[in-house]
Amino acid sequence: MSKFDSVLLIAGGGIGGLATALALARRGFASHVFEKRTVFSTEGAGIQIGPNGGHVLALLGLREALRSKAGIPHAVRVHDGRSGGVLCRIPLGDHIARRYGAPYWVFHRGDLHAALLDAARDCPLITLSSGAEVTGLSQGADTVCAETADGSRLEGASLVAADGLWSGLRSQFFGERRLVFSNRSAARAVLRIEDVPSGISSSDVGLWLSDKAHVVHYPVRGGSELALVVVRHDESSAPGWSADVLPMWVREGVRSFAPVLQDLVSAVSDWRKWGLYDLPEPPAFVNGRVALLGDAAHPVLPFLAQGGVMALEDGFVLAQCVAAHEDVSAAFSAYQFARRQRVLRVQGASRKNGRIYHLQGALATARNLTLKAAPPGMLLSQYDWLYGWHPDEG
Ligand SMILES: Cc1cc2nc3c(=O)[nH]c(=O)nc-3n(C[C@H](O)[C@H](O)[C@H](O)COP(=O)(O)OP(=O)(O)OC[C@H]3O[C@@H](n4cnc5c(N)ncnc54)[C@H](O)[C@@H]3O)c2cc1C
Repeated sequence: MSKFDSVLLIAGGGIGGLATALALARRGFASHVFEKRTVFSTEGAGIQIGPNGGHVLALLGLREALRSKAGIPHAVRVHDGRSGGVLCRIPLGDHIARRYGAPYWVFHRGDLHAALLDAARDCPLITLSSGAEVTGLSQGADTVCAETADGSRLEGASLVAADGLWSGLRSQFFGERRLVFSNRSAARAVLRIEDVPSGISSSDVGLWLSDKAHVVHYPVRGGSELALVVVRHDESSAPGWSADVLPMWVREGVRSFAPVLQDLVSAVSDWRKWGLYDLPEPPAFVNGRVALLGDAAHPVLPFLAQGGVMALEDGFVLAQCVAAHEDVSAAFSAYQFARRQRVLRVQGASRKNGRIYHLQGALATARNLTLKAAPPGMLLSQYDWLYGWHPDEG
């Protein structure tokens, strides 16, 4: 196979696709990002970026652009959802920044995506096409050729499929893998900080646990808004990205929660809902000159707040592998080798959190007692393997 002497194609202009383009450019490689939406944008409310993702964003040169947008919560406060009592306080802020060398950031998704997009627009090595859904792909001995919905074709050295959870390229090139509904859906919203009831900390990450639901909130947009996620049991979910949902559906989900949390949820009138899907057996990440990345490769349930961070890590490592190897085959094999065990571990840890969050009865009581008794430092140190990841800066 030949060297990377032509442009690398990227399908999907979400966090993963844009981070990959920036990481490739940092190493001197040109890319072309196809995004099927008519404008580059993102859906959803907030996003938490642990220190492992912060390292990548800093190396992509985004630290300054993001500084004024980032929230830096002091702690994660875990609440017993029913009583509202605090079960434990896991230190973030300076503590986590010192421990792992990067802060724990929280963003409005739009702010994070806009920073990645602005940097990509400013970069001469990156071409962006919106309204460009990749619908076909053929692989030759030394090239790939992507076809978009309008019939245009573009040749490149390889294609990175960063087309998200419902990846059509995964189905096309990696065999049909069934996404499994987790029987949970997430409703997301953002509300103005002045509408947040007193009694809700707006400077921390709040995590409220009850038997069939949990709630997460944290400050975004420099503390002027609060992002809110309500995850609740759901019987069914139509396949697809996101849907409108009635506020009543969300309120019903938190009926067992303390009044202050119910007041917080009632303060929101505009929710969107995401069915939460898992891919228990991710396919190989590489097939010839096509590599899967981010949610397309390995969707992560959101109970560890790491799916987007994994997409950032993937993009950075993929670019590293492209720089370190002479041909596509060796570079993509190295990428798969470097990423697979880690992302499978993250997927598993997230599933486990999901089980723990929704425990019922005596098991929930035992969980709460354990959280109360655990030294906060220990609760954080169990994630050293996750947050302590450092990209190779070379
Ligand atoms: C409720 C919830 C909360 C979450 N919270 C967090 C969190 O706090 N922290 C965290 O790190 N992660 C979180 N995640 C996970 C995170 O949102 C995803 O892991 C992340 O968005 C994946 O990025 P991606 O670029 O791989 O895919 P996506 O963000 O889905 O981007 C894929 C892009 O590809 C485009 N596309 C699709 N098909 C094509 C095609 N054929 N051609 C061209 N373009 C195409 C789409 O329009 C889209 O723009 C959360 C997820 C959920 C559901």
